[in-house]
Amino acid sequence: MAQYRKKPAIIDASQWFKHGDHLSVRPRVECFHPDPSANCKHCGKAVSEHGFVDTLEGGHTVCPADWIIEGTAGEFYPCKPDIFPDIYEKVEE
Ligand SMILES: [Zn+2]
Repeated sequence: MAQYRKKPAIIDASQWFKHGDHLSVRPRVECFHPDPSANCKHCGKAVSEHGFVDTLEGGHTVCPADWIIEGTAGEFYPCKPDIFPDIYEKVEE
């Protein structure tokens, strides 16, 4: 086995806090959920405060403050805010 380093790639990302923040994120309550008044097991906030984004691996819940990343194929996927700074740094002009 050899070692590989991920090639640097510049991606577009923005942080999602509420409905309307990102065109690709729709309200979670518009999608099926067994109990819309339940709290999220990740962040503890109400499901109704969450978004939902279609990724290449299927739909994914977006917690408030999650980052929405645009992938190289134009796809979107969420990233938790505590992990994002470990993987990405801002590109300064
Ligand atoms: Zn959550």
